[in-house]
Amino acid sequence: MFVHQHQGSLEVICGPMFSGKSEELIRRIKRAIIAKQKVQVFKPALDDRYDASAIASHSQSRYGAIPVKDTVELARHLDADVEVVALDEVQFMDEGLIPIIEDLADRGVRVIAGGLDQDSNGEPFGIMPLLLAKADYVTKLQAICMVCGALAGRTQRLVHTGGQVLVGAAEAYEARCRHCHETPHATGGQRLLDGE
Ligand code: ADP
Ligand code: ZN
Repeated sequence: MFVHQHQGSLEVICGPMFSGKSEELIRRIKRAIIAKQKVQVFKPALDDRYDASAIASHSQSRYGAIPVKDTVELARHLDADVEVVALDEVQFMDEGLIPIIEDLADRGVRVIAGGLDQDSNGEPFGIMPLLLAKADYVTKLQAICMVCGALAGRTQRLVHTGGQVLVGAAEAYEARCRHCHETPHATGGQRLLDGE
């Protein structure tokens, strides 16, 4: 039977920080390379927590990536013969990504996008709701709650700066379950942010 191998698709890998999104993205990239596919990897230029030109996981695995300041720049870098496009930290990318992804998938390209589905207040993050709606496949990962050890779907911000975007890693955030997660508006959260 003929199996059509070149159908385009959008895969979204989401979940809180430390849930293994970057590890999973890197795993899929490596397998595509083993399959001898032409892969291009991008990340938003503002995410420089480990390496400006690589996707890096908290467990130190990394893979080279082209940093792009916006989706116009991303589109300029796309090669005509690309077969797999991997994107990390897509919650920081602009809405212009949606038509680019749709065009790629329509042309038979496999797009794999990793990003935070929720911000540290537990609210939908940037374009992620749109991407999740458009996705053919969704993988929602969980981390381990740093307070109680349960599965964690939320990201707790440990420092108070305001704004949705604070690029940082272990020192500024930790994974929490729904029960242990605190927002600045809640009483417990304010106590946490005041450092008491
Ligand atoms: P993400 O891209 O979702 O932030 P990473 O792939 O960068 O996740 O990192 C996942 C790794 O982080 C895990 O394999 C583990 O080694 C480490 N880690 C640190 N804290 C936690 C935690 N609270 N829960 C799960 N993994 C954690
Ligand atoms: Zn917990």
